[in-house]
Amino acid sequence: MGIYLDYNATTPMRPEVLDAMRPYLDSRFGNSGSVHSRGREAKRALEEAREAVAAALGARAKESIVFVSGGTEADNLAVKGAALAAQGRGRHIVTSAVEHRAVIGACQSLAQQGFEVTCLPVDADGLIEPEQLKRSLRPDTTVVSLMYANNETGVVFPIAELGQLARERGAVFHTDAVQAFGRLPIDVEVEEADLLTLSAHKIYGPKGIGVLYVRPGIGMIPQMHGGEQEQGVRAGTVNVAAAVGLACAVRLALESMRAEQRRLGALRDRLEMGILSAIAGTRRNGDQDRRLPNTSSISFYGVRGDSLMAALDLEGIEVSAGAACDSGASEPSHVLQAMGRRPDIDGGGIRFSLGAATTDAEIQRVLDLLPGVVERLRAANVQGIGVRGESPRQEPTP
Ligand code: PLP
Repeated sequence: MGIYLDYNATTPMRPEVLDAMRPYLDSRFGNSGSVHSRGREAKRALEEAREAVAAALGARAKESIVFVSGGTEADNLAVKGAALAAQGRGRHIVTSAVEHRAVIGACQSLAQQGFEVTCLPVDADGLIEPEQLKRSLRPDTTVVSLMYANNETGVVFPIAELGQLARERGAVFHTDAVQAFGRLPIDVEVEEADLLTLSAHKIYGPKGIGVLYVRPGIGMIPQMHGGEQEQGVRAGTVNVAAAVGLACAVRLALESMRAEQRRLGALRDRLEMGILSAIAGTRRNGDQDRRLPNTSSISFYGVRGDSLMAALDLEGIEVSAGAACDSGASEPSHVLQAMGRRPDIDGGGIRFSLGAATTDAEIQRVLDLLPGVVERLRAANVQGIGVRGESPRQEPTP
């Protein structure tokens, strides 16, 4: 298999996670809502998983952990659920221009229902000024949703400061910590988060499960109807096996976090410095220091991101195009655009995201191959794999 450098898109499940899940996919298949023995067995496992996740987040009550189908659902539930619950107090929401599409889409949907949304800009390094948040807060601001770490650039927002500002002014503070959890220490009390999103498949857990932390006392209008599961906030039979897997992945992520921060940070810096020094016309996207240790986004002047991604794939290197292109067929990255990059002039962004199986030898191989690939694309002035303007539509970066 090739060299996988797309861990921000998804991660492989750890064998321990699969082992922990297996009984609940097999003999312990009970519905955690059933009152007979098998149901109670499933319920016990679910509550143990809830307790483990609550402890990992520094949450005081295990009931604050709501299992949902993933980061996208948690973001939607957080933004819409909290805004609708608080609409008697006001209908103003604050978010940022670089949020994941799940948050942006939820805000757009509320805007269509008459809510007012303020979208905070970021600077050229992808950072947000707390002062700007302060200025945007109004008496009718009910929800502030700002991500912990950006999925494309890895840039980390000053969440504790932002959370404090929002909460001091009476707004509910939500942070999407999908990319940050397991890579940075997170505590809902330190970060002053009222609502916090996690997703298991970004931390070597199963796909299709996530968590919304809901601080006790925060009003939420459920976005799914049909049952009283998950403290009445999220209807539907709970995926017990996946919840058990998520809890196991959370525990393992915290155990290896410190060592992985150092190891991946060193590999990422070697990769990044190697690229920036060996290839002319390259530029880092995102603040050098306030970033996740595993992520590097780089623009290559005169080269489309999707062309380079496809050419690297042919060489057995899997990365993600953080930005597109000038054809009109692909959507430019809203994150890089918010940072003032012009994909048509500055080149598309490539996201390298490192993880558990990344080795020194893999990084060296990328450094050996990349200059030649970029040179070929520049020489051919290739504007996409295939004919200019016919490249497939690019999905938003996960
Ligand atoms: N938020 C961020 C920052 C992400 O990177 C992702 C991943 O795509 C999501 C939310 C969505 O998570 P999920 O894939 O579990 O729906």
